Amino acid sequence: MERSIKATLHETRERNERLVLATIYDQGPVSRADVARLTGLTRTTVSDVVEGLIASGLAREIGRGPSTGGKAPIWLEVPDRARLLVGVDLGDRVFTAATVNLRGEILQRVEVPSEDADGDEALGLAMQLIERVIAAADGPVLGIGIGAPGLVDSTDGTVVEAVKRNWRELPLGHLATERFSVPVHVANDSQAAALAEHVFTETRGANLIVIKVGQGIGAGVVLNGQLFQGDRFGAGEIGHTVMDPSGAVCRCGRRGCLETTASARAVITRLATLRGAPVSMEQAIADFERGDPQVCSIVLEAGTRLGEAVAGLIGALHVRRIVLAGTMAAFGEPWLQAVDAAASSRSLAALACDTTFELGRIDDIVVLGASALLMTRELGLSLRPLHSMPRPGLSVKEVAAEATVQAGVIPPLTVAERGGFAG
Ligand SMILES: [Zn+2]
Repeated sequence: MERSIKATLHETRERNERLVLATIYDQGPVSRADVARLTGLTRTTVSDVVEGLIASGLAREIGRGPSTGGKAPIWLEVPDRARLLVGVDLGDRVFTAATVNLRGEILQRVEVPSEDADGDEALGLAMQLIERVIAAADGPVLGIGIGAPGLVDSTDGTVVEAVKRNWRELPLGHLATERFSVPVHVANDSQAAALAEHVFTETRGANLIVIKVGQGIGAGVVLNGQLFQGDRFGAGEIGHTVMDPSGAVCRCGRRGCLETTASARAVITRLATLRGAPVSMEQAIADFERGDPQVCSIVLEAGTRLGEAVAGLIGALHVRRIVLAGTMAAFGEPWLQAVDAAASSRSLAALACDTTFELGRIDDIVVLGASALLMTRELGLSLRPLHSMPRPGLSVKEVAAEATVQAGVIPPLTVAERGGFAG
């Protein structure tokens, strides 16, 4: 009985901490009185929590605001570098890791070629890369967010299956936590990309699909402002949907998966077969830009095949904004148009003309999305870039008018056992 009361008190304290921190982060600079009004918590509770946040470096006082009669209020903010996020993209061709501040700005970034690595070698490469970034970090590291290819159980950080890396049931999150002694969160790379696109473009709260087309193909789906992972975690895994049962053998063992016709790997393979020699992606892109008819035909055909699959998503979800990212996006507008045309011609006309396709324009989209995931789960904060912040000087009323204390893009996991925000 006593234990359960203790647990309840602990949970309440943690919930209050998250609420106050999120309010200062989203609305800062704000005074303690503003925080109390915006959260509905008592001033005493807010003062207590703020004291703890200041002690742990997650909040600081930045001077006094204008007086509204009485004593001028002391403004609070969350320092951009109160914690550093380590974001990791285990991409097809390179692994990238970076330290990122709490406003999504990349501070330091390293990458290493990863094209041919699989199994333990690929894992070792990823670990070394993370080690380098952490060693170079000049501030307290909150944890590590990793965007990994394949099917990822993001509740425990297990890579269930990543064909290219030959990983099966790889407990990536646990291994990295053991090695670096910080919390680690892992998500599928397309889902991480969708998070970043949601956070860094001015469409928060909207629906969105990001389709990442590299050597593999996956979609990340944001519905009502939240990453939608399905009943467990596999939502958006469209790459191994069989489109042509008599097609080419896929890496997964089946025939004619979408990846065998629409991925960067499919384009390079077809081109190499036609030319009788290996072709690099850089070469293919250069030839495409020069208008090489063979390359153009293969790339646009790949776009058409992708569009056929995307028509299914349009019909199932009626999400109006579809962003195409990944290596294939380097083929630009002509490829985008091929996807759009095929998807539109195979969707109900009323839905098709309501759907827009665009190319992703965020660099390091997976690194930033993985960082956003980490931040939400560990601090309960939904990453907000600086440009989306209310300007200092807005009245409390104006600030409060647009105040929605965000619970986060992804529902935070219970991290009660970690005991609040200390450290
Ligand atoms: Zn397959």
